Amino acid sequence: MGTGSLMTKLDTFFAQNSFEEPHLVIDLDKVASNFTNLISALPKATVYYAVKANPEPQILSRLKDLGSYFDTASITEIKLCLSLGIPAEYISFGNTIKKQGDISQAFELGIRSYAFDSEEELQKIARLAPGSDIYCRVLVDCAGADWPLNHKFGCSTTMAKELLLKSADLGLQPIGLSFHVGSQQTQTSQWDNALHQIQGLYKNLKEQGIELSTLNMGGGFPTAYNANVPSIAQYGEALTIALEKHFGANSPRIIIEPGRYIVGDAGVIEAEVILVSRKNAGDEKRWVYLDIGIFSGLAECLDEAIKYPVTVVGKEADTKLGPVILAGPSCDSVDILYEKFNYQLPLDLKSGDKIRIHATGAYTTTYSSIGFNGFPPLSCSCI
Ligand SMILES: *Cc1c(COP(=O)(O)O)cnc(C)c1O
Repeated sequence: MGTGSLMTKLDTFFAQNSFEEPHLVIDLDKVASNFTNLISALPKATVYYAVKANPEPQILSRLKDLGSYFDTASITEIKLCLSLGIPAEYISFGNTIKKQGDISQAFELGIRSYAFDSEEELQKIARLAPGSDIYCRVLVDCAGADWPLNHKFGCSTTMAKELLLKSADLGLQPIGLSFHVGSQQTQTSQWDNALHQIQGLYKNLKEQGIELSTLNMGGGFPTAYNANVPSIAQYGEALTIALEKHFGANSPRIIIEPGRYIVGDAGVIEAEVILVSRKNAGDEKRWVYLDIGIFSGLAECLDEAIKYPVTVVGKEADTKLGPVILAGPSCDSVDILYEKFNYQLPLDLKSGDKIRIHATGAYTTTYSSIGFNGFPPLSCSCI
C-alpha cells in the first residue's frame, strides 16, 4: 500500500485514542510531502490546492506555509481561507456556477480571479467583479478518470474563443483557459490530449490581440488506492513533454489545482464492524455492515468508483480470508459500498472489530451528511 511510516504514526494515534464513531485522521507531514513531491515533479507550475477535497483548517494552514495558492468553490471556502490569513491574491473562485451575491461578496473580500464557462456567467462577473482576471473552462475528454467531471463543466473551444474576445470588451482581464481531465485520472496522456485540443486557441487569440498569460491544467492527479497508478514523477514528465510539444518555448504560466493527490493517502478512517451475516446458511459471501457508509463519508464508493484498501485491526497477516459484501449502516439500500468488486476479509470477522479504510483523506468528511438516519457526520483529527 506504500503507506510505510505513515502507518506507524497513524497506528500510534489510534492506539492512544479511541472513538465511538468512525474517525478520520490526517497526517499533516504526508500532506506536506505530497505537496513538495508534486512541485518537484512540475517545478514550473503554481499549485492551487482544491479546497473542496478536504478543507480542514490545519491542512490549509500547512499548505499556506508551503506557499500554496487555493482554488475555492464557494463563498464559505473563500471566507475560511481568508480567516486563516491566506491573502486574497492567493485565492481563485474556480466554480463556473456562482450566485450573483457570492460574486459580489467575493469581490468585496478582494478576490480578483474567477472561472466561467458561459456567456451569462461572464456578464455576471463583468458586472459584479469588474476588471477581474478571468479564465474560461473548456470541455475535455475525461476517459481514464475513476471519478469523471465531464459534461457538467466547460464549453467548446470555439465558444471559449468568442467569450474571451468578448470579455476584453467587457473590461475584464482574460488570462487563459482551464480544463480538468477528471478526478483520479489514471492516464498520464489525457493532459496531452487536452493541450492538443486547446493550443490553437492561444495562437489564434494572440493574432487577434489577446495574449493569454496563463493555462490552468486542473487537478486529476491520483491517489494510489488498490490499482497500480503511475507515479507523480511520471505525471510531471508527461505534462512537461506535452507542454513542450504544444507550446515550445512559448508556454504560458502553468497552474494546477490538485485536490485528491495532496490529501488522499494522508488520511485513514477507523470504523467498526456492526454485523457480519449471511442471507442463506450456505452462502460463501458474507455481508459485512460497517458504522460508516455512503452517507457518512464514503460517497465515492457509489458505483464502486473509488476502491479504498480495507484492513482489520489486530489480525495476523496469515489470517484466512473470505469474500464479503461491504455495506453501510443506514436504512437505505443505496448504502452498499462494495458488492461487485471482490473484497476479502478475515473469516473470523465479527461485530465490534475495528477496521481501517485507507487513503481516505480526500472527499470524505465533506461528502458526509449531517445526520442521515441519525448517524453523525465523519469527524477528523490532523496530526
Ligand atoms: C474538484 C476540482 C479540482 C480537484 O480535482 P482533483 O481530481 O481532486 O485533483 C480542481 N479543480 C477544479 C475546478 C475542481 O472542480
